[in-house]
Amino acid sequence: MRKLRLASYWASACGGCDVAILDTNEHILDIAAVADIVFWPVAVDFKYSDVEAYDDRSIDVCLFHGAVRNSENEHLARLLRQKSEVLVAFGSCAVSGGIPALANFKRREDILNRVYRESPSTENPESVLPQPHFTAGDITLDLPDFYRRVYALDDIVPVDYYLPGCPPTPERIWEVFEVIVSGQLPPAGSTVGVADHSLCHECSRVKKEKKVKTFYRPHEIIPDRENCLLEQGLICLGPVTRGGCGARCIAANMACRGCYGPMPGIIDQGAKFISTLGSIIDEDRVEDAGAVIDRIVDPAGTFFRFSMAKSLLKGARQP
Ligand code: SF4
Ligand code: SF4
Repeated sequence: MRKLRLASYWASACGGCDVAILDTNEHILDIAAVADIVFWPVAVDFKYSDVEAYDDRSIDVCLFHGAVRNSENEHLARLLRQKSEVLVAFGSCAVSGGIPALANFKRREDILNRVYRESPSTENPESVLPQPHFTAGDITLDLPDFYRRVYALDDIVPVDYYLPGCPPTPERIWEVFEVIVSGQLPPAGSTVGVADHSLCHECSRVKKEKKVKTFYRPHEIIPDRENCLLEQGLICLGPVTRGGCGARCIAANMACRGCYGPMPGIIDQGAKFISTLGSIIDEDRVEDAGAVIDRIVDPAGTFFRFSMAKSLLKGARQP
């Protein structure tokens, strides 16, 4: 049987998705038995020029992780789309912008100022900012353009499959890989490695009244291990998040942060959670309910932690 040609690439990413692939442990050997790696910058020394020389659609499967933040990310998204038969948005950053897209709350100029001029560890007496093009004598240096906002992969190119998670769990990665090898692919556009029910559905904690009197930050309480974390006052996005992860965070006594993305039918995960909050705060008077809401630090960053690029807001208004 012909071996599959497999690529993996990280764009605006933290590297956790690559680590998750390595976390499939001994299955890496199974993958190597049926697939040749033809591009994987973190592990194998292929160059962009190698990929450019491949025939179109000659990569069987490309796992693309990371969001699109700059012109280099966009170039590789377009190049890998052209060269791949199947393109998978792998991990929350590629699927919906993920953590990098929280930067969409800030203007590009504010981010550059903060990083290169204001941060306490920066020494930049001439107040220089990175320039896309810089000429020194006969040499011109090019840097990628830093875009005004962060995009999900399918904002740039068509995507065949979506595998959410931050990162996807090794068990789900291996299951998806088995499906790819079997050739029994689901319909194009499917979200794979997930359940169609909410995380609450597969969470074994005791749910009582779904009423909350106050909220806590994680360091302020040690929640018990039996009862629903949301009812104990911890922001848990389980009601609006797809299951399929095995409720690993819940098992570790940590609330769900929403990385598996919205339940089917939910257009905007963060907005839906705001609606959920409206139904569980146990106060009748507007002022009292407002005081409970005020206990939530950084609501936008918490509710849209992984979904900003695909939210209705998309980000702060940019001039
Ligand atoms: S989805 Fe999570 S683990 Fe993967 S690159 Fe993004 S931040 Fe890292
Ligand atoms: S809100 Fe969180 S802790 Fe409560 S049932 Fe849902 S997933 Fe479990």
